[in-house]
Amino acid sequence: MTWEPVIGLEIHVQLKTRTKMFCRCPAGFGAGENTQTCPVCLGLPGALPVMNRRAIEWTVLLGLALGCEIPGQAVFSRKNYFYPDLPKGYQISQYDMPSCINGSLLLPTAEGDRVIGIVRAHLEEDAAKTVHIGGHSGRIGGADISLVDYNRGGTPLVEIVTAPDIRSADEAKRFLQLLRQTVVELGISDAEMEKGTLRVDANVSVRPSGSVELRTRTEIKNMNSFNFIARGVDAEVERQIGVWESGGEVRQETYDFDAAHGKLTARRAKEEADDYRYFPEPDLVPVEPSRELVERLRSELPELPATRIRRIETALGLDRATVLVTGGLDRLWEGTVTAGADPVASANVIANAVVGAGVEIGAVEPAELARLVEARERIPRAAFDDAIAKVGDSGFTADSYLAQETVSNIAELEPIVDAILGANPGQVQAYRGGKEGLLGFFVGEVMKETQGKANARVVSELLRSKLSG
Ligand SMILES: [Zn+2]
Repeated sequence: MTWEPVIGLEIHVQLKTRTKMFCRCPAGFGAGENTQTCPVCLGLPGALPVMNRRAIEWTVLLGLALGCEIPGQAVFSRKNYFYPDLPKGYQISQYDMPSCINGSLLLPTAEGDRVIGIVRAHLEEDAAKTVHIGGHSGRIGGADISLVDYNRGGTPLVEIVTAPDIRSADEAKRFLQLLRQTVVELGISDAEMEKGTLRVDANVSVRPSGSVELRTRTEIKNMNSFNFIARGVDAEVERQIGVWESGGEVRQETYDFDAAHGKLTARRAKEEADDYRYFPEPDLVPVEPSRELVERLRSELPELPATRIRRIETALGLDRATVLVTGGLDRLWEGTVTAGADPVASANVIANAVVGAGVEIGAVEPAELARLVEARERIPRAAFDDAIAKVGDSGFTADSYLAQETVSNIAELEPIVDAILGANPGQVQAYRGGKEGLLGFFVGEVMKETQGKANARVVSELLRSKLSG
């Protein structure tokens, strides 16, 4: 019997509004602990929340990008629980009437678009950040000291819940890359996992291939990169298959994934929604976005990443198109191609050399990059890499770079190098047989011939490429 993974994701995206969700405290990183707080986000008696208009608009914008319906009314509720990260004793969140429902994201694959359902996207406030020191697990149980930073408390957070439509760890990763790029391009969040502005939990179950049943699922938390998510999901799928095949039963549990050891650790029995005693927040009116607002936001949507992957796939193939778009590189690629460079060569240079050199993508002039892409076969590899590293510098022009002596010398040097290699067949053979120390001999011969005028670095590079060919 073969098994099919059934995966759903819950994604938290921290919005980069200037202020918090229900008060005017600044939202963001870097300030001293507990310096960005006020009576509202500390939950002091008598303090009243006021909604952040921009956070609501951005949630609607995201919902529209995910093909969601935007109901005429959304309601904030209180989700009651006790923990030090929540001074009010409840979190304000949307429960049965969220801002966005019934959407989908199309994931381009080789077999066509996979439709990943979006059950809902709702707005809530983030909890404070807790740090547990001492003990083994980094969790509150067993810790010597627990610290709380309330700066993060009350920051706007959108939770996106997918349908259990994802069928493999790799698909989960590709979905997240696409979703992340969509969020970043909307300009509503940095969506960086390392900073915690994008957080992902995965719900995982397995079933016999071909069946449509939904078996008991588990939840995996604490995965702070897309690769860890893929590994955590794979590990859990394997564990569940083992449980079913040995005649056991998967229990509803929450696991932490320890990426360093590839290990899953059970956390606690999962709460049911009833445990939180949700009820409508009496201090806030329902959110009723006007149809004009929704249509205005819809008209402002940019061309979305999934659409662009499909558009440029014909020129590049799906994998290259996906890498460019989810890496935020396709606009530079398009500019470079428009400026006359070969599409596939441009894609490879951008995804490998330009990204590898750490060049700031937005600073690159596409026409200059196009000239380098065209010139790459004519100049030594070292000179090409050097040019790519500088392509984002202000004032860089490919023409002036390529006109430099070191580069133009190559045309003059090449016949000299060829002649010297031709005159020393024994040394060439020995070099190719592994005596690479002979490179110095060849460089010396070229220098003698040019009376020391050639650039030694360029000579070495040229010799290496000839000798390896
Ligand atoms: Zn505040």
